[in-house]
This record gives sequence, structure tokens and C-alpha cells, in this order.
Amino acid sequence: MIKRGLNTGVLALAKLCGWIIRKARVGKVLIVEVCGNNSKPYVLALKEDRDRELYAVAEPLDIGSAICFEGELASEQRSKRGIEYVATRIEVYAKPIEHLPVDIAGKVPALLETRIKYRWLLARNPVEKAIFKIRTGVLKAAREYLEKNGFVEVQTPKIVAAGAEGGATLFKVQYFEREAYLSQSPQLYKQMLISSFERVYEITPYFRAEKFNTTRHLNESWGIDIEQGFINGVEDVMQTAENLVSYIVDFVRINYKDELEILGVNLPKLTPPFRRLKFTEAVDILRSEGIEVSEVEDLSDAAEKKLGEIMAEKKHDLYFIVGFPWTSTAFYYMREEDKVYTRKFDFDYKGLEIASGGQREHRYDKLVEALREKGLNPADFEFYLEAFKYGMPPHGGFGLGVERLIMKMLNLENIREAIMFVRDRTRITP
Ligand code: ATP
Ligand code: MG
Repeated sequence: MIKRGLNTGVLALAKLCGWIIRKARVGKVLIVEVCGNNSKPYVLALKEDRDRELYAVAEPLDIGSAICFEGELASEQRSKRGIEYVATRIEVYAKPIEHLPVDIAGKVPALLETRIKYRWLLARNPVEKAIFKIRTGVLKAAREYLEKNGFVEVQTPKIVAAGAEGGATLFKVQYFEREAYLSQSPQLYKQMLISSFERVYEITPYFRAEKFNTTRHLNESWGIDIEQGFINGVEDVMQTAENLVSYIVDFVRINYKDELEILGVNLPKLTPPFRRLKFTEAVDILRSEGIEVSEVEDLSDAAEKKLGEIMAEKKHDLYFIVGFPWTSTAFYYMREEDKVYTRKFDFDYKGLEIASGGQREHRYDKLVEALREKGLNPADFEFYLEAFKYGMPPHGGFGLGVERLIMKMLNLENIREAIMFVRDRTRITP
């Protein structure tokens, strides 16, 4: 933080900014805690007699004041709460015009309702800030890993004419004279791009009209979506998924130690490859535990959770379920010769699906047939189908939920804790 002056080699003073989150008097010393972008607050200890001028500036300031100070790192660090600085100058940029509606310096409020409403302000609190700093790290790590592995970042439209994941969760928008939808997933577009790029990725919002309030669904969530061409099978795609997630976890472990400590999270290093369970195997395991499961449908939430517990007992926090039945999947997954099972996988972390993916059907005729069998009209997908006419290689990919990954990494109980502004069944502000 402390910068050296140009060519002089002399230690220049650092200018640090933030908001006062706590003020306390200990005898003749005024302790001021300031939080800025840093996860740990800056701490100033001002003595009434020694630092008379600064003391006079800081003493009347309310909690919430926006200030900058110049100073040096204190040679002796006595504060357990933050990083101590010796200030030489304090500038006041703004004073609150009302009392803050939430206590920033104390414990994070117990009521999730309050946290969601005031997240933008509560992010002055080290605990809230740590979650969002780690969120930045997750996305940074994802980009780093994907760039290193030859993926090109793309952006696909968020106003679309057709849904990829079924009509029930589409948000309609009026697009001039016609009806359009908010994109549920970049699925169709990222696949189309495998007609000109070997590998692509997108970090993107998903808009889904999920009607039910659950602890793991948002109506606007974020995904790390990849699509990878010239693959030999679904195994190549699962390897990308497990290596990406392990890279992200490692990146956070190494670069966000302070934040993990603030959150009290012990994040163990992951060691892929993770267990691959066949769908049929998962069904057998669950049935042997007395859980009712269908052979032709996706696993229920309760079954997914139970499987997580069973796998955790065997020390598998992360695992794949691969080979879902065609009756349970979207049209674009490649089917096995038997036509019963597909090359679709789910990637689960502590009993929650964090990603879905698989090998896609890249053969034009078979894709048209698949659309028909799913009761969809190929004419509605003409723009997509055309991309399969001019040399589409075998490919596959996945969508990894950013909030779900963060939720599981940090042991958060509700997905709403992993996003700054929540869009759910009842919230459209702030
Ligand atoms: P679920 O069955 O749990 O509702 P899904 O199978 O419909 O999820 P996918 O279409 O597979 O979801 O999307 C890929 C990933 O994106 C999911 O594995 C999940 O991590 C994330 N995701 C999808 N929908 C949501 C949502 N509504 N809220 C938060 N994350 C989501
Ligand atoms: Mg899924």
C-alpha cells in the first residue's frame, strides 16, 4: 500500500479511503476504524494531546462518514480488528445525513431480509465484504483458467426468440411488435460458435422465471458457461469442469486467506479426478437407502441432497452423475446408441447441483430428430440448426452456477447470500 516516491527511494505516504465503521475512546485515545475496499479495516489511534489537529477532525465525525487519510503503516500492529496506520492528515468527503439503518461494525444481522435489503451498505462490514471479494476472485480465477486453456471469451444475446431450457421458466419481454424472452442460458449460441471457435466461454446472467422460493434458486443468477469442440467424448468435458472448479477453489485458498479467516471458512484443497457415478448407479445407491427414485426422471431435490450425504460419508464432496435418461434431459444432449441414456452429466458439490453439462448432438439429422421427439418445432430453431450444416465438430460444455459454487465453497445456507442484489419471487428492488 505504501508507495515509494518517484526516483527518490523515500517512502511516500499512502492515501487510503473508506467509511468510519466504528469509533471508540480508550482513555485519551480515539480509535477510528475505517473500511474501504480492503477486507480488514484500517485502524487509526489518535491521542488527544499528541495528535491534537487530527483528533479535532475525527472526534465529531459520525459513524458512516466518508473520509480519506494519509499515513504510514504503524510499526507496531496492536489491533486485532484491522490494520493500524499512523495518520498525518484526514480529509472528510461526506457525512451521513441520517443514522445508518444497520449496524455495520457489529455482527451481521441475523435476519436475511435485512441483509438482502442493505447489502450494498452492509458490505462495509468485513464479513459481507469478504463474500463479495471472494466472488470477484471466483470470476477472476475462472477467466484465468479458461484463458490459459485456450477458451475465447464471448458474449451472446440476452434478448432471445427461443428458450433453451423449456418454456416454463421464460420471462417474456415486448420486443417492438413481437414477443421475445430474456435468455435462460447461452446454450444455443455457445454451441453455434463451435462452428468457428474451438473453445468458448461466457460469464453471463441467466434469467429464469422459477416460481418457487427455494434456498438455491434466483430469478437472475450468473453462470460460467463453456463450450468445447473437437472432443472425444463427455469425459473431456467433465475434466474441464473438475479442473476449473479445483483451480477456482485453489485460487481462493491462496489469494483470499484473510477473507476466509473473517468468514471462518476452512476450504480444503481439491484433488480431481472426482468420482463419476452413473445415473443408474445413483438410483441404485438411493434405493438401497430406501429412497424412492424414478428411472426416467431427473433426481428430486430430496434425492439429490440425500445422495450428497451418502457421498460425503465416503469423503466425496464433489462428484459427477453421468448418463441421464433421455426422458429427463433437454433435446441437445447426445444420446447413446440405446437411445435410452444420454451423455448428460450433473456436477454436484455437497449435495447440490452446481453445474450441468454433457456432450451435445452435433449431427444435423439426429438433432432435428431430437427436437421432434421432444415435441419442439425444428422451424423455431432454424437459426440454431443452420450452424450444424457446415462442419460442426463433436462438442460439449456445461453451465456452472456462480452463486451455487460460492454458496458451497463458503458454506452459505441461502443462495441469496452470494449475490449483491437479489432477484427472487418477491424482490425486484433494491
Ligand atoms: P435446478 O434443477 O437445480 O433448478 P437446472 O438443472 O435447471 O437447475 P441448469 O439449466 O442445469 O439448471 O443450469 C446450469 C447451472 O446454473 C445449474 O447447475 C446451477 O448451478 C445454475 N442455475 C440454474 N438455474 C439457476 C437458478 N434459478 N438460480 C441459481 N442458479 C441456477
Ligand atoms: Mg441442471
